[in-house]
Amino acid sequence: MHLDMVLTTCPFCGTGCNFYLQVMDGEISDVIPCKTHPISEGQLCVLGRNASRHIHSKDRLTRPLIRQGDEFIEASWQETYKIVANRLLSIKETHGPSALGIFSSAKCTNEENYLIMKFARGVLGTNNVDHCARL
Ligand code: SF4
Repeated sequence: MHLDMVLTTCPFCGTGCNFYLQVMDGEISDVIPCKTHPISEGQLCVLGRNASRHIHSKDRLTRPLIRQGDEFIEASWQETYKIVANRLLSIKETHGPSALGIFSSAKCTNEENYLIMKFARGVLGTNNVDHCARL
């Protein structure tokens, strides 16, 4: 049996608590609060404390699902990207870039949120960018 402790930042809100992911034989098995982190000081809220529970859940969505009528059909990432890109382009051409908007998430890193903003403004041409922390 091989045990690793991986220090990381909680992904659930912008507070930025740190914890160790306990990894046994390549599988995350627990979350251990980091006592030396200046924000969390060894404490986590219920979200952070249970941060590993969903990772290996059999109910977790791991592939895109495309709606066809009343059903959701599993699709490849490439197929899904193509559909999303075509839909965004179609809306932009028909209604203009202001008809598009992007919602980001507090669960994203600052870098990911920055990229989302650049994608909205630089690629889509819209200033409609918002974030779930404001909703
Ligand atoms: S442990 Fe709770 S308070 Fe800390 S970053 Fe995670 S969600 Fe936010």
